[in-house]
Amino acid sequence: MNFDKVILKKTKCIICNKRKHVKLFDAKYLFFDLEGKYNIVKCVNCGLIRTDPLPTISTMKYYYPKNYSPYIDTQAKKTSSQFKKNIKNILHFFFDTKGQAIPNLQSGNMLDIGCASGHYLHEMKKKGWNVFGIETSKDAVTYARKKFNLRVFNGPIEKAKKPKCTYLDLIVGWMTAEHLHNPILAFKKLRAWSTKSTYLVLSIPNADSFEFNLFKNNWFALQVPTHVHHFTPKTIKKVLDISGWKVEKIIHQRTIANIIASIGNILKSYGFIKIGTSLINYTSNPLKFNYLFYPISLIQAFFRQSGRITIWARKK
Ligand SMILES: [Zn+2]
Repeated sequence: MNFDKVILKKTKCIICNKRKHVKLFDAKYLFFDLEGKYNIVKCVNCGLIRTDPLPTISTMKYYYPKNYSPYIDTQAKKTSSQFKKNIKNILHFFFDTKGQAIPNLQSGNMLDIGCASGHYLHEMKKKGWNVFGIETSKDAVTYARKKFNLRVFNGPIEKAKKPKCTYLDLIVGWMTAEHLHNPILAFKKLRAWSTKSTYLVLSIPNADSFEFNLFKNNWFALQVPTHVHHFTPKTIKKVLDISGWKVEKIIHQRTIANIIASIGNILKSYGFIKIGTSLINYTSNPLKFNYLFYPISLIQAFFRQSGRITIWARKK
């Protein structure tokens, strides 16, 4: 698919239903250096930050090429020996980024929205969960079905039907909500599949962090236009509230991966392609990376300035 096939539409705020905004800055899709220039705008009424204009849902696929790393990364994982797994678990305990922190629940029915190749669901299945997934990438879904024998709906959440279980106990979305054209409709749909005790757990980039203000168009977690909204703790709370969910906890993740990768983006823009790319790739090796910078990550999280947050919400 070429850029000339991308259909762009002017946006309005999904909270206020109004177009009035202030422009913060403009940005390009640095992740793959693809065509298109987008504005990062903020609703003057509620403060929700969004990408404008926006490709329609069907033409957004130009920005999800075959080598889109969330699909590649999850496919590349090798099976480790039990000894290596034990060491990993110990390190994970001491250097937990809290990136996928979930409440302490008894296993039941769970759904992963944007489950990619299904590795997370596979791990949860092994722990006794009855698992379901939703994923737009056809290749990732084929992998999840063949490799792990998972029940994954291939398509956007807007078209998904209720998983075949009585109700869901846990819904997770790891770095998914910012990709949704209308998260309010999605969260309302998920609410209808839930009970009072269901937890909705999301991880998202945090636009109320010093790294967003510092790096602006070079911020690694900006990724326009695939990131439709750039939430802050305040605006995600509002979006969830309108959708019938009450935020119970916001966890600031213990990682500075965005900062290192943003520096990589800047270096690339000055022509230092090799070193810039290696910094960006370095962050995708969470083992080495997170342990080395863990003390800085702890300070950043303590001051509630982390560029990535994890949210626990329950039905109102
Ligand atoms: Zn608004």
